[in-house]
Amino acid sequence: MIDSHVHLDADQYPDPSGAIKRALEAGVTAMVAPGVGPASNRRVIELGRRYPGVVYPAVGFHPEDFEHGEHDVLEALETIARERDSICAVGEVGLPWYGTGAADAAARDAAKLRLARFAKLAAAMDLPLILHAPHGCAGEALAIIVEAKVTRAVFHWHKSDEQTTRAILNAGYFISLTPEVAYRERDRDLARMIPADRMIVETDGPWPYGGQFAGRLTEPAMIKDVVAAIAHLRCATFDEIAESTTANARALFGIKE
Ligand SMILES: [Zn+2]
Repeated sequence: MIDSHVHLDADQYPDPSGAIKRALEAGVTAMVAPGVGPASNRRVIELGRRYPGVVYPAVGFHPEDFEHGEHDVLEALETIARERDSICAVGEVGLPWYGTGAADAAARDAAKLRLARFAKLAAAMDLPLILHAPHGCAGEALAIIVEAKVTRAVFHWHKSDEQTTRAILNAGYFISLTPEVAYRERDRDLARMIPADRMIVETDGPWPYGGQFAGRLTEPAMIKDVVAAIAHLRCATFDEIAESTTANARALFGIKE
């Protein structure tokens, strides 16, 4: 299995070797670690060098983060070009929805232009895109990446209306599901709706979850619980969902067996 989105460079994993070991023991053979800003991008690249074939770094610029400015965007774009062969994706990038600046029209417009720059570079470098574009942002992000001719992308922890979800699937992009599929109706509906060949799984660790995960540090080993929950919802076997989500993540990120 593959955890397609886990922030292994986060403060909550001061030494990620334990989390990685437990993931491997749980059958999670690869983890995609998206960067969220300049320091984070450096840390995930370093983790990729420390755990080759296990940790796959991506370089991005988190859209909810208003601390970083144009200089940092340029640095991220340069890092993507320079590290093309040691990263598996551009991300996470996207559009703001939760942050304080998300309500500001000028900041939203700037974020759209920024996403277009990352999307064009991803297309030019033949790298997939890891998108943070929740709720009302999803349709806007979709339009931007189609315009940029991005061929491979995942809408991470996707949440949006059904019409937008169908448009994302029709455009050929992937959607990823988090541990919320185990207990939240909105995500459970999504797990039933997405075709098997378009679904991948993630923990978005260290993000904390509720339900059966309440009070636990989110680790990539939890992917087995995500797969089990999806299997139950789709009346499939654990192995069927493990195989399809892994094959999809391999195809998306170019991860070899
Ligand atoms: Zn994330």
